[in-house]
Amino acid sequence: MRAITVLPGIANSARLDEVPEPPLSEGPVLVRTLALGVCATDREILMGAYGSAPPGEQRLVLGHESLGTVEAAPDDSGLVPGDLVVGIVRRPDPEPCPACAAGEWDMCRNGRYTERGIKERHGYGAERFRVETEFVVKVEPSLGMLGVLLEPASILAKAWDHIERIGRRTRVWAPRTLLVTGAGPIGLLAALMGFQRDLEVHVLDHNKGGPKEAIVHDLGATYHTDEGSLARLAPDILIECTGAAALISDCLSATAPAGIACLTGVTEPGKMFDYDIGRLNRTLVLNNDVVFGTVNANRRHYEMAAGALARANQAWLARLITRRVPLARWSEALEHRAGDIKVIIEFG
Ligand code: BGC
Repeated sequence: MRAITVLPGIANSARLDEVPEPPLSEGPVLVRTLALGVCATDREILMGAYGSAPPGEQRLVLGHESLGTVEAAPDDSGLVPGDLVVGIVRRPDPEPCPACAAGEWDMCRNGRYTERGIKERHGYGAERFRVETEFVVKVEPSLGMLGVLLEPASILAKAWDHIERIGRRTRVWAPRTLLVTGAGPIGLLAALMGFQRDLEVHVLDHNKGGPKEAIVHDLGATYHTDEGSLARLAPDILIECTGAAALISDCLSATAPAGIACLTGVTEPGKMFDYDIGRLNRTLVLNNDVVFGTVNANRRHYEMAAGALARANQAWLARLITRRVPLARWSEALEHRAGDIKVIIEFG
């Protein structure tokens, strides 16, 4: 079967390979791939800056944003052939740490977790993949191809889960406004989930007048392109989705008192700034502000995300997928083109 593989650590080493069928050791559920979403993490792996192959192997099958149909599953799995499913990305560390032991592998404490298509486990970017019953999530059939948004949505479902847990540190938490920085797929899904919580939603992005602005507007949210809006809005909740170092430094103290700023972007180290830590500390302390980071998602978050996608306006969601590239032309999907939001590779 065909699979997109890469030599982790070596830039531009990706190719469409012929690989053996997935081994039973990867799980009893056999899935035929329909689509694979591409994200910034995949591009980083392609640049040789992230990712690792399974122990003893050189190449890694890429891909962690999956969608497929079940071809075969054990009788007691609750799955039947034809079910639309997505594979979970992370697997608990082998020890396991207390978080992984409790099914919260997204909060792994020792860093020895593995991730499909990213860290020491082959990904979902192959014509067929196998997965363990407990690491596969069913998607509402009416979502069709939009089910490929489940993995990125799970990242935001976790972010919102944690924002709300932090909010409950006070009995009177009643947030009104949300600011999302970055109108990429992560930012737009963060905004969607804010809208689903009846918040007044603002999105800040540097693109003027393109499809992102219209998509934000049609969600019922306000689109901003001037960085001054950060200071002006003073939102109750801020979700940073650009990973742009200069903007992040402004986000840290931009919330209203008792605000919560959630960082979701994985940045490259080495960007140095002159920064007034005394002022930041004073703001955070005197305002009871929280700044926290979040990564990955556990099964509960995938299920929350599946609910959020099923409740969303499907026509609006469909606008997040701006390019669909057939597997034979897979490399085009990894190029960054103007107007891209979510790019997917169609297997089929
Ligand atoms: C994935 C996460 C993963 C993270 C770090 C992201 O792109 O969506 O599941 O934990 O990269 O590897």
